[in-house]
Amino acid sequence: MHNNEKITGIARETLHFILEVSKSTYPNEFAGLLEAKDGIISNVLFLPGTESGGTSAILRLFMMPNISTVGSVHSHPSSIIRPSNADRRLFRRTGNHHIIAGHPFEENNWKCFNGDGEEIELKVLDIELENDEII
Ligand SMILES: [Zn+2]
Repeated sequence: MHNNEKITGIARETLHFILEVSKSTYPNEFAGLLEAKDGIISNVLFLPGTESGGTSAILRLFMMPNISTVGSVHSHPSSIIRPSNADRRLFRRTGNHHIIAGHPFEENNWKCFNGDGEEIELKVLDIELENDEII
């Protein structure tokens, strides 16, 4: 279900959104999926009110058809930004870009990992995002 599109980076706006949601969900964990458009991660799909920790929620989402994602994102209420064993198992199955944000969720409190759980560089891009809907 995940695609193998080449990823050039993440939109700064999307990164800020991730950090804001991580903050507002704290001390609980939030989890979601990363969607990319034209090779840039620019959208997060998430289930609000994830009760049982992020990973099972992510897995359920990945079982859904018609969702094309490049990886996952979740927060760690601790400041340790390192994939757990459960995270690694999930990463292996669900794409090649996985963001973990760690408390206190400031600009540098996140890392990106590949499907093998190895840290990879993800560029933060200053681009304008088109809004899908105008309110
Ligand atoms: Zn984790």
